[in-house]
Order: sequence, then C-alpha cells, then structure tokens
Amino acid sequence: MNRREFLEAVAAAAALPSFVRQTVNAEWGAPVFDLHFHMRPQPAANLAHLDGAGVTKANLLTRGAALDQVKAIDAAAPGRFTWFNSYDVTKPDAEQVLTQAVKAGAQGFGEMKFHVAADGPELRRMYALAADLRVPILIHFQEVDHFEGEGPWSAGYARTFESILKTYPKTTFIGHADAFWANVSADYHNEAAYPSGAISRGGVTDRWLGDHPNLFGDLSANSGNNALSRDPSFTPDFLKRHQDKLFFGSDCSCTDGHGGGVSQANNPAAARLAGKCVARETLTVLKRSSSDEVFGKITWGNVHKLLRIPA
Ligand SMILES: [Zn+2]
Ligand SMILES: [Zn+2]
Repeated sequence: MNRREFLEAVAAAAALPSFVRQTVNAEWGAPVFDLHFHMRPQPAANLAHLDGAGVTKANLLTRGAALDQVKAIDAAAPGRFTWFNSYDVTKPDAEQVLTQAVKAGAQGFGEMKFHVAADGPELRRMYALAADLRVPILIHFQEVDHFEGEGPWSAGYARTFESILKTYPKTTFIGHADAFWANVSADYHNEAAYPSGAISRGGVTDRWLGDHPNLFGDLSANSGNNALSRDPSFTPDFLKRHQDKLFFGSDCSCTDGHGGGVSQANNPAAARLAGKCVARETLTVLKRSSSDEVFGKITWGNVHKLLRIPA
C-alpha cells in the first residue's frame, strides 16, 4: 500500500461507521433519502443534520460554482450524497453552466427558484435542456409573498403549468413549494401561502400527478408538510394514489436534525414548524399515513429509480 492508498483507506474507514450506523439502525424502520437538502458549507454540518434526523442519504442542492464543496462532502461521507445544481436562469450562460455541472456529476437541476414565469422563455430553455441531458428539474412554485415585496417564484403554476407538462413530455418535472402544494385543494386561489383546513378534492396538483407521467412531487418544507397535515382524511389515499410519484424531502435548515437553530429560514408564514426539524415532522406524518411499502417508495425507492442509482 502506497501513501496515497493508505490515506484513502484511513479516510474511508473514518467515514464508514456513520453510514453503517444509519443504515442498520435507522429509526424510521427503513433507510431514508432526503431529496431536498440545501448544501451547508462545512461537511460536518451536513452530516450533523442527516445523522440527527435519522437520514441515510441526501441530495445536495447548490447554486453556481459548488463542485469543490460537493467533492469535499462526498469525500467525508462516500455514498451518502447526490447533487443537483442551479444557476440564475436569466443569465445568458445558464445552459452552458448547468451542462458543465451535469458533466461534472450533478444529477439534476435544482432548486430552480427565480422571479420568472413558470411558462416564460428563461425556464423553457431549462426544461428543454433537462430533457436533452436526461436529468430531472426541481422547481419552486410560489405566488404568495412571505414578506412584503418578495414577489412570486416561477409564477403562474396553476394557470399555465399543464401546458408545459404537455409541451415537454420528455422532461422530468419535480414540483415543490407553496403554490404546488396549496393546489392539492380545488378551492385554492392564492389566498394564503399555506392554507389550512379541509382539502377540496380534485386540485390541479392532485390531478396532474395522476394525468402526467412526467410530473413528480417533492414533499419538503412547510408547504409539503402542511399539505399532508391539514386534512388527515385526505393524506393516506393521496400517498397511496401517487406512491410512485412522490419523494420525501426536508428543505430543513435546522442545525442538528432535532429542530435546533432555525428550521424554516426565518419564514414568518411557516411559524408552525418553528423549533422543529422539518425532516422529522414530515417523516412522522408519512409513517403514520402510509403502509410500509408506500413509505419505502416515497422515502427511498422512488428517488433511486429517478436518479437511476442502485437502492
Ligand atoms: Zn424552495
Ligand atoms: Zn432539521
């Protein structure tokens, strides 16, 4: 064994116990994959959240140049992370930068969160590119401000997105955030970021998940948790109906996987999750609202299929 091989072996051994502990001892009764995990600069901070919340693997979301940090995290915990990259879609070099990221190992685009129309030219370029590169695109849809002057993100979802799903049949879309999840209810008209109470059956998100094979849903953040929590009579059938189209994600910003620090990035509208770990809260709802088989697909199986990696 030469010096380099020796150092690699030491690094691998140091990283291994945490991975093995999580897979064998998973407190959720099965391994869990977090699709929506914003990368933290220090490798240890990423692992602290995964280990604290009982999460086995996570998908790092980054924006712009991030390859060195992604590599450092991957080296600290081999096999525990995948990676999606994002980039300002209004910039002329967006296609070039994202193509480069995919060549360097990114397995998707996301999260795409920009002040442009969901059916506008900036995102249309990305939908076409995602299909060309055979990677999914994860989009933040939001119409209602969390604070004054925020402005909408990927605006026009409920009005226009079905035409996008039809126009780009080869693109794999993953919907996320306020407007995507509020629209599980047919009576939603942008009254609130996170509507509460009974869900009126037949909302566009529920219908489109059923009608369009290229649409998937990311259950992360207060938005996903709220949609699963607001009407317990809705949740089990919804999860069963779309068991092959949904992914667990946290979008949690707490420090320790137990609600330490700030879990919802100071979003005043998401106060219901203050002091809580979003990963834990959503895994708890999923666990009590689905069979072991459905839980296993949503928290593990589906994402491995999506990214074409062995489960
Ligand atoms: Zn988001
Ligand atoms: Zn957390």
